[in-house]
Amino acid sequence: MSQNNILEVENLNVKFYTYAGVVEALDYVNLTMRKGEILGLVGETGCGKSVTSLSIMRLVPPPGKIEGGDITLIEGSKRQPVLKLDDASLRKMRGKDISMIFQEPRAYLNPVYSVENQIAEVLIEHRKEEFLKMAIESHRKRTLENLAKTKGAKAAGDAERAGKVPSTFEISTYKRLLRNPHSRIARFLSRFSRQRIFADEVRKEVVRILKSVEIPDPERVAKMYPHELSGGMAQRVVIAMGLACNPALLIADEPTTNLDVTVQAQILNLIRQLKKNLGSSILYITHDLGVVAQLCDRVAVMYAGNIIETTDVFEIFKNPLHPYAKALLESIPRPGQAFKSIRGLVPSLINPPEGCRFNDRCSYAMEICLKVKPLFIEASKDHYVSCHLYGEKSK
Ligand code: SF4
Repeated sequence: MSQNNILEVENLNVKFYTYAGVVEALDYVNLTMRKGEILGLVGETGCGKSVTSLSIMRLVPPPGKIEGGDITLIEGSKRQPVLKLDDASLRKMRGKDISMIFQEPRAYLNPVYSVENQIAEVLIEHRKEEFLKMAIESHRKRTLENLAKTKGAKAAGDAERAGKVPSTFEISTYKRLLRNPHSRIARFLSRFSRQRIFADEVRKEVVRILKSVEIPDPERVAKMYPHELSGGMAQRVVIAMGLACNPALLIADEPTTNLDVTVQAQILNLIRQLKKNLGSSILYITHDLGVVAQLCDRVAVMYAGNIIETTDVFEIFKNPLHPYAKALLESIPRPGQAFKSIRGLVPSLINPPEGCRFNDRCSYAMEICLKVKPLFIEASKDHYVSCHLYGEKSK
């Protein structure tokens, strides 16, 4: 376990209890993410990429169940055991420490909320204290301006220097809220006027965040509803929501799937810029190796609920080790060359093959591959693989 890690997933085991049988969706998955990197999680549809990301957020829907394993989020000296957090801590973590951009932005946006209100909800949930302080400061300034108008600039200056700015109803209410956010008045205000308390401050922050994701005319877009946004714009708004609290880890689950190539290129460029500017770590889920080559620092390849290879992005294209990773790269269409597909089909996860789950499609399969699951070993420096062709035989 390195000091440099932001996320450690160990032996993650997830099953779905369906009428057709038990789907063994994640088979003791191990994954490590480093601070400030973009890790690409790649693999065919149904290999467990999205289940991995949902497990990290503890959002696996029923009939799915996380059966075992550990997920640890590391920020400085703080280690959060995600699977052991209670509901309140989990609510705090989601959106603030880890946030997620889903595949289909329109399904994620609430159709009856304006863009401003959707982003404001995230801001108020996680940054309430910061906005209360900003609201106190702006009321203090306004009080001083009124004092200067009524009693002169000198009186206002004296009051400020002496730290005796007259308290108003708002200032004292906000200070009470800051002291005890669970008081009766706090509950009353949060129910009836929570967004109005610091409406100006929140609005300014929403516009700033929309600007940071390169939305043109952010003041106008903030007032729009999801049905008025284009696909690219809706995805930018969802990215803005994901970034509202500057999370340590951002999970992007195929965020460019339904976008045309031009908008896709813009979104990828934006994610690259955001990583550079904010230093967030990004788990980028995709089945598109072209996107991986453009965007990622490291890659983890998944197959049938297992991580089968992890390495540097250059290494995976130059020297893939696992037979599935090799076949996946060979199947990229190239102009002037016949299309090469991977023989066979992805196995059913209701009754997955014993041993290596790739054994019925692998040209190198040996006796041991039919019975024993290969260990995940370091085959060369920082290049991990799970295959009996490398290292010792596993149990
Ligand atoms: Fe092929 Fe065996 Fe390696 Fe699996 S463990 S990829 S079956 S050689």
